[in-house]
Amino acid sequence: MAALAEAVAATADAMVPRIVRVRKRARDLPGTVTLEFEPADGTTLPRYQPGQFTMLYVFGVGEIPISISGDAGDATRLVQTVRSVGAVSEAVTQLKPGDLVGLRGPFGTAWPTDELAGQDVVVVAGGLGLAPLRPSIYHLLANRARFGKVVLLYGTRSPEEILYRRQLQTWRKRLDVDLEVTVDHAGPDWRGHVGVVTRLIPRIAVDTAHATALVCGPEVMMRFAAAALHDIGLPESAIWVSLERNMKCAVGLCGHCQFAGMFACKDGAVVRYDRVRRLMGLKEI
Ligand SMILES: Cc1cc2nc3c(=O)[nH]c(=O)nc-3n(C[C@H](O)[C@H](O)[C@H](O)COP(=O)(O)OP(=O)(O)OC[C@H]3O[C@@H](n4cnc5c(N)ncnc54)[C@H](O)[C@@H]3O)c2cc1C
Repeated sequence: MAALAEAVAATADAMVPRIVRVRKRARDLPGTVTLEFEPADGTTLPRYQPGQFTMLYVFGVGEIPISISGDAGDATRLVQTVRSVGAVSEAVTQLKPGDLVGLRGPFGTAWPTDELAGQDVVVVAGGLGLAPLRPSIYHLLANRARFGKVVLLYGTRSPEEILYRRQLQTWRKRLDVDLEVTVDHAGPDWRGHVGVVTRLIPRIAVDTAHATALVCGPEVMMRFAAAALHDIGLPESAIWVSLERNMKCAVGLCGHCQFAGMFACKDGAVVRYDRVRRLMGLKEI
């Protein structure tokens, strides 16, 4: 009975937003901004793990799930990258330093960073999918000696849509990371790869028996990336993806994000590919 009461209290707590203030705003791309939040009441921010998300509530507009895109090791700030696609995300991208919003979470599962020690790690990102993966990249780079090869593959539609451009340039200079960026279409000024990101996968050299892949992007991209990784020898159980489903409560109550037998908000968003492969191929789930 006590355990039940505790669970109910924890769920009720998770439904109450804390008020946070925008500390910094940077425009990454047209319609895409990175915001830094701090508690408005002088308290500390909750700890989170790479891959988790929060529910951001713009007063009078609505609440949406947004992944954490900053360094999970830095407890002083919460960083999130948001693209405007509709009413709430547009309102988030219009926030200015000093504005207040409601914040619930962090919620959801994490990229399996602790299980990657000794493994080669392949990170495959498509478009804005680099944002939810960035905390795991920070972790890999901050603890570089713990891992085997680290391969980062990033694809966008065009060179103009490359996110975190300066940071990619910094990562590219490192001798202990293999970073490749590709774009679907480019003009004559582009000197890099052209083609979808999955085309880079057959070229990578990793020990597939001891490698793990973290994949995030549009669902179709994740499916093709997982197939290409499987083709080069990675078992599906060594591939992790992040599910994007419409979410409301974020605590597995409302059923908005139900994905067959699981709730994407609570059992995901980060999941092992072998657990969802068949479902990801189905429409209307
Ligand atoms: C776990 C999780 C993490 C996310 N992280 C980020 C992030 O870091 N940055 C970011 O910009 N966005 C992220 N999203 C997507 C973001 O939540 C949606 O863009 C947002 O909910 C759209 O709300 P809206 O009111 O602005 O637009 P709406 O009017 O609700 O929707 C506009 C369009 O976007 C589509 N859409 C709405 N919600 C989603 C969704 N969850 N997944 C895919 N398409 C959707 C709708 O079908 C519609 O076509 C994440 C979603 C989830 C589930």
